[in-house]
Amino acid sequence: MPAYRGRFAPSPTGALHLGSAAAAIFCAAAAQQAGGTLVLRMEDIDRPRVVPGAAEAILDDLAWLGLRWDESPLRGPFAPYVQSERLALYEAALDDLAARGLVYYCDCSRAEIARVASAPHAGEEGPRYPGTCRPFGMQKRDFRRPPAVRLAVPDDDRAIVTVHDRVLGTYTEHVSVVTGDFVLRRGDGVFAYQLAVVVDDLHMQITDVVRGGDLASSSARQILLGTLLGGAPPTFAHVPLLVADDGSRLAKRDKLMALRDHRAAGSDPRALVRAIAHAYGHDLGDTDAPLEALAETLDWSRLPREPVRVSAIVR
Ligand code: GLU
Repeated sequence: MPAYRGRFAPSPTGALHLGSAAAAIFCAAAAQQAGGTLVLRMEDIDRPRVVPGAAEAILDDLAWLGLRWDESPLRGPFAPYVQSERLALYEAALDDLAARGLVYYCDCSRAEIARVASAPHAGEEGPRYPGTCRPFGMQKRDFRRPPAVRLAVPDDDRAIVTVHDRVLGTYTEHVSVVTGDFVLRRGDGVFAYQLAVVVDDLHMQITDVVRGGDLASSSARQILLGTLLGGAPPTFAHVPLLVADDGSRLAKRDKLMALRDHRAAGSDPRALVRAIAHAYGHDLGDTDAPLEALAETLDWSRLPREPVRVSAIVR
């Protein structure tokens, strides 16, 4: 068994909110419980969505919560890995897939895909892509718009992926049926989240991914891509989302959703960590060292499988 290596990978697209704090706390506790290493990675390649100052604010909020990570690039202690400094790795992975005929240019618009889609929705990214551009491969042609690059999902058993998730259990997903050929580089030239995450997880030898439940629908695609790039898939644990009390999605602007609001209100970070742990099935008592206590008692089977109501943490 390789030694446990986990990562927390926030995107600097806004303030750290309670939901991501919950994922971060469980991520850190799991690494500590396993006596492993925790890596922090700032996922800032989607430049149009990056908010100036958000990366620094997230680091500051994580430190306020008491979170520490173990490994940094050479720049200095507690500096995160930064995706925008790693573009050459993503390019090399695309080249590798291209050399094996596993990617192709696609200039279909979202509207076109929606019109011909055979499956209504495969998560956030929209409907399943029916493979219209696949026959053209990487041939340069008269593109109607700057083309995206898609993975040609293999038509064989490799597309049937088994996911091991400590919270959601073990399940199988047929990637060509659910999402079809997915985007690895967008038409605007930005490497897709899926590619960057998989390449980084491989390079950083991540064995365990603990993250928010909104990303569970990406696991199978990431395992497939990682396998095609020659890596061993990580084990996942998706920490259920925090939702409003009526079950609807929380907005970052909702009351006390941002950690900085808790800081401004003079909250005790240890009390907040205890409250989050409690909402996710772990009663830590009134300990002064809640992260350590969570690391000692963390039991994935105690996490709810359903979204957690925010009033379990803040009133
Ligand atoms: N950067 C992603 C996010 O903040 C998380 C990536 C991951 O954990 O796989 O939503």
